[in-house]
Amino acid sequence: MPSSFQHWDPHPVAITSARGAWLTDVDGRRVLDLSMGFGAMLAGHLNPAIVGAVTRALETGTLFVTPSPVANPKRPSDSSAGSASTSCASPTPAPRPRLYALRTARAFTNRKAIIKIEGGYHGGYDALQVSVKPAVADAGPEGAPTPVTPFDVEAGTVHVVPYNDLARLEQLFDQYGAEVACVFMEPVLENIGIVVPDAGYLAGVRALCDSHGSLLVFDEVKTGLTAGAAGASQRLGITPDLVALAKSIGGGLPLAAFGGRADVVACLSDGRMPHFGTYNGNPLVVAAAIAIDDIATPEALGAAEQLNITAMRAIDEIIATHALPTHTVGFGVKGAVTWSATPVRNYRDYKRTDFAAAELSWLWGVNRGILTPPGLDEQWLVSLAHTADDMSLLVEEFRELAGALRA
Ligand code: PMP
Repeated sequence: MPSSFQHWDPHPVAITSARGAWLTDVDGRRVLDLSMGFGAMLAGHLNPAIVGAVTRALETGTLFVTPSPVANPKRPSDSSAGSASTSCASPTPAPRPRLYALRTARAFTNRKAIIKIEGGYHGGYDALQVSVKPAVADAGPEGAPTPVTPFDVEAGTVHVVPYNDLARLEQLFDQYGAEVACVFMEPVLENIGIVVPDAGYLAGVRALCDSHGSLLVFDEVKTGLTAGAAGASQRLGITPDLVALAKSIGGGLPLAAFGGRADVVACLSDGRMPHFGTYNGNPLVVAAAIAIDDIATPEALGAAEQLNITAMRAIDEIIATHALPTHTVGFGVKGAVTWSATPVRNYRDYKRTDFAAAELSWLWGVNRGILTPPGLDEQWLVSLAHTADDMSLLVEEFRELAGALRA
């Protein structure tokens, strides 16, 4: 069953093949891919290193459900705890890592409640379905949002805070701190464009968690390797207790993982929170993860980030020349045009952005052979396969759009 995200209005684009940064659609049209599997295809489509590693893995078996040096390899970087690199995401690549990260936090703290960010998306686990994209009319005051739970969800106790708002977080901790297992959040929000933390915000969250005995869980599914070779945590200098990873660390295969502080992940092996799953540690996806870990070097990621910065600076100039009420935001190899004259610091700011302009801009690109993510809430990804010429296509397409808007 395809993901609901594969349907978009007015018509989804159907793709038959992909290589590097380019897709071919059912009509034989070549499309520049800047969605890149919602950010999962960091390596580029059919990257030879990934294809080679997976092909070799196919020759030795795809599932043993036993301990295996192939499925649980020791890597030279295994000692660098806190890094988001795949090799450090102990204990094993696993399906549903957000669910397990949350349950691990509960098992470790012996508490059940969680705090999440309004507008934060973390996949399908019930507790994390609260206030993902609530209607503002249902969501209470901006500074003290009410949790909004879809009808079919049994969430447990979930408190919701605005991103970049330490005062509200502190109030909730003062009131409920003794019950809170963890703050579960993306360090940089990447499901409402790209929303970066204010200076000192994440350090403040870290300190509040510590003073109330709660864990800090970073969902780095979207940041991960796209934020740098050791993820957003390292880039921003804040170490979470647990980290959930997926997308970019899998080289395009369906890999997800979580890991973190040794005394916390000990819950998984000492019986407090067993971790089951037929496909856990699947050798095929582990082969892909090792290959991407090898090729996503700081140098390779730095070069892709430079292409991203160059494209964003060119788009900034076009925005300034045409006096458009919009701006670019980038983080690592990801970038977005946010249709608002002022920075977006949280979900309510995002809801005040110009969605009609965002949709127009997206359709403008699709009609000119450039596919950015369809949801109007994600960001483009400059993969290891994109070139300066590819990124110029995005810039020139934006220049045309800006001219048309001001014509
Ligand atoms: N966490 C975040 C931050 C995400 O952006 C996503 C997907 N966009 C998920 C979790 C869920 O990942 P998956 O779709 O692989 O279950």
